[in-house]
Amino acid sequence: MSIIRIPVAKPALGQEEADAAARVILSGWVTQGPEVAGFERDFTQATAAPHACAVSNCTTALHLALRAVGVGPGDEVITVSHSFIATANAVRYLGGAPIFVDIDPGTFNMNPALIEAAITPRTKAILCVHQMGMPCDMDAISAIARRHGVRVVEDAACAIGSGMMVGGQWRMVGQPVDAAVCFSFHPRKVLTTGDGGMITTGDAGFDAKFRLWRQHGMSVPDAVRHGSATVIFESYDELGYNYRMTDIQAAVGRCQLTRLTGLVEERRRLVAHYGTLLGAITGLGLPVEPAYARSNWQSFCIRLPDRADQLAVMQAMLDQGVATRRGIMCSHREPACADLPLRFALPESEAAQDRCILLPLYPGMTGDEQAIVAEGLEKACR
Ligand SMILES: *Cc1c(COP(=O)(O)O)cnc(C)c1O
Repeated sequence: MSIIRIPVAKPALGQEEADAAARVILSGWVTQGPEVAGFERDFTQATAAPHACAVSNCTTALHLALRAVGVGPGDEVITVSHSFIATANAVRYLGGAPIFVDIDPGTFNMNPALIEAAITPRTKAILCVHQMGMPCDMDAISAIARRHGVRVVEDAACAIGSGMMVGGQWRMVGQPVDAAVCFSFHPRKVLTTGDGGMITTGDAGFDAKFRLWRQHGMSVPDAVRHGSATVIFESYDELGYNYRMTDIQAAVGRCQLTRLTGLVEERRRLVAHYGTLLGAITGLGLPVEPAYARSNWQSFCIRLPDRADQLAVMQAMLDQGVATRRGIMCSHREPACADLPLRFALPESEAAQDRCILLPLYPGMTGDEQAIVAEGLEKACR
């Protein structure tokens, strides 16, 4: 039996999603069919992105986006170590080298001031991460990219429903700043389809490639052959993958999208309330939302006071039934990345992993639950 009273996260799934999945299962078409097409349409509407292509998860989305911008063996992609390991792995799938730069300790995002020193003749792209839903400083990043002729791919795994100011205008994350934006629908993200991903782009050629590559490089998708009055033979013209999303997932995703605005508003309310509850704990660092960013608060990450031991605080809170997680991992510290060249020291990334914890935040969380978390943290920090 679990001793957890307050989990760190909870998906916002209900009867509507269950009914949508059942409808698809009984419909006779269960993968990459009408529901996937509908989810893509709904997604372009929700984000104002010109094109949206559904895929199996965000890792495969990143793989395809980086392939589209031409990342290949020996190429360098500037990114952060302070991210889920899939960010770096997607570069490696293509034979590229992730070049890690450090983060800004306030936003936990790539520090734009460190990018230029990392650019070499081998740099193909900047892969920035809107970490925990907080948008990066895209004006700064895209100015550097333009100056050096490199492409920008956004890892927006956590950032559906976040907004950002680019060129003096507010936009939803998903309206691409440059090449493509990649989303995740894993249960730890704000919207979920069980697993799932989406790539948005403004480039119709990229979008056509994503559609080709996600289904084995097949020249004619099977939904098209199914609807054709004449017999069509497909061909396989390029190396492809099976990165399909099912219609069951897509139908769930369409329900989830209708909840997006409400879910983000609720998360923002909960975070504002945490700010009030936690303000009294001396030495505690709260996350910063810059003027150019409107976070969906996929995660709420706080920096512990210097006196507090991370593991001891997390254990003390777990003993009270409150689940937490340590700060976002640093990929460069994992054995799987031991053979990667590390060009720069990453003190802020390492401190964010070692000195921060994620507090519970989920739809339906009550004020009483937030008070229990805040009291537990206050006691544990003493
Ligand atoms: C979750 C996550 C991913 C991977 O997403 P999947 O859908 O699980 O493949 C990639 N990058 C970041 C920053 C993430 O948080």
